[in-house]
Amino acid sequence: MMEGGYMYTVQRRIGDGVHWQCEEGGTCKSRLHTNGTEIVNRTSEHTHPPDEQAVICCETKVGIKKKARESQDSAHHIVGETLQTASGVLVLNYPSWTA
Ligand SMILES: [Zn+2]
Repeated sequence: MMEGGYMYTVQRRIGDGVHWQCEEGGTCKSRLHTNGTEIVNRTSEHTHPPDEQAVICCETKVGIKKKARESQDSAHHIVGETLQTASGVLVLNYPSWTA
């Protein structure tokens, strides 16, 4: 999942709780603990800057899903419209969005 520009991967799950590990794993010691949708604990600062491209990509995906829910346009049409204003990074990621 994505939080504050950082990507996290699941380290372990305990009931509704999840321990997340920064994707930078090896060098970065930052961890998140969530319970349901709530962040209950955060350990250590990241040793690297947030991934801005990942943030843009994530926000765009959310935007497309939202638009698709609210409008009569097909998701395909909305993706096309969004990509006209998006960066090359997003275009590269495009195939995985619709899979
Ligand atoms: Zn990190």
